[in-house]
Amino acid sequence: MARTETPRRIRGTQDIFGDEQRRFAHVLSTFERVRALYCFQRIDIPVFESTAVFARSLGETTDVVSKEMYTFEDRGGDSLTLRPEFTAGIARAYLTEGWQQFAPLKITTSGPVFRYERPQKGRFRQFHQIDAEVIGAAEPAADVELLVLADQLLRELGIADGVTLQLNTLGDAETREAWRAALVAHFEAHRGELSEDSLTRLEKNPMRILDSKDPKDRPIADSAPDIDAYLTPEARAFFDAVTAGLDAAGVAWERNARLVRGLDYYRHTAFEFVTDRLGSQGTVLAGGRYDGLIGSLGGPETAGVGWAAGVERLAMLLDEPPAAGIDAVVVPMGTAAEARATGIVADLRRAGVAVEMAYKGKMKARMAKADALGARFAIILGDDELAKGVGAVKALATGTQTEVAFADLAEALR
Ligand code: ATP
Ligand code: MG
Repeated sequence: MARTETPRRIRGTQDIFGDEQRRFAHVLSTFERVRALYCFQRIDIPVFESTAVFARSLGETTDVVSKEMYTFEDRGGDSLTLRPEFTAGIARAYLTEGWQQFAPLKITTSGPVFRYERPQKGRFRQFHQIDAEVIGAAEPAADVELLVLADQLLRELGIADGVTLQLNTLGDAETREAWRAALVAHFEAHRGELSEDSLTRLEKNPMRILDSKDPKDRPIADSAPDIDAYLTPEARAFFDAVTAGLDAAGVAWERNARLVRGLDYYRHTAFEFVTDRLGSQGTVLAGGRYDGLIGSLGGPETAGVGWAAGVERLAMLLDEPPAAGIDAVVVPMGTAAEARATGIVADLRRAGVAVEMAYKGKMKARMAKADALGARFAIILGDDELAKGVGAVKALATGTQTEVAFADLAEALR
């Protein structure tokens, strides 16, 4: 008889458990705490959108839109796409929900995103992002606040030391056009030395050649003209205000004149937090200013700036997964104690104490379980204890044991 095959996990997806889950949850809870310190509101948006939302706002020539999207037709015949990032969906929500009335809107979100990529360390097909955006603020102060928030998040995660903030400006529209012409002239002059991919980029999206990872392109990308000579006084002033803000807030940064975002609506600030600890998956957090995005979706011209970070990449950088750390394990010995323990455990949990019940196996195995769970105390309940109305509370770090009346247990454990 043919055996039913066990279902497989889809390539590039994850089942997150144990230490890995604790790292993951720690990143999310730290983000949740830090975003509240900066008075950003949490929002939630759909996991899928009309394909046009991403195609129009990310641009047909980007890797994400041209090769990485999970696009499908639903039963009604509409073309839908699983979100490959958050910004486009947030911009769509801003328009459909009339959030203009709340501008400037400081928001965060997090959740799964989907990209059809070759899976490897730090690169998945379903991964998770945390995301922060300020919509409706054209001032450099918004860029600074987002960057200081990102820096504090990395510090609180204990990973700021190995991570560098690389910063660039893409100028305003006038700057960008002049710089773009200079880049095209430079690349045209080195046509013969460019990679196949970069020849395509030269036609469609020449700025992207600057961040090509192909070693063949690097010398030509590295010798390309910087934007600096083309900055208008306004664009220069904007960039200076951002860097002055970072300096005032004590956030270290480095200029990276090769850092670009390919799409026309990106303006001014572009940045990445990078590490060399994750091989070629070294960008942990990236973003910039996208003042033309909402206009390109058919909305009123609206300034915007934001960033996204990969939860898995941040989690991989954490030194130690935070301890599970429960308060106590209750160890009832015998049927009467077990019956009584059910009520005691329920009372302790209602009083806010994290308790596990170890009701299986020999005493030794149960105490080992208490250790493995990282409990601070074991509460042993035998016939003697029941008769006296106490639990034998053992501090697992020291081995010290004291008797505590049932009514006082919660207080003693907190
Ligand atoms: P990369 O150059 O690594 O492909 P990207 O430029 O495509 O990154 P963004 O679109 O800026 O990345 O996404 C923001 C963050 O999301 C990245 O800095 C990274 O931490 C994370 N990220 C991107 N793609 C993946 C993936 N496939 N798996 C896990 N994390 C990812
Ligand atoms: Mg990518």
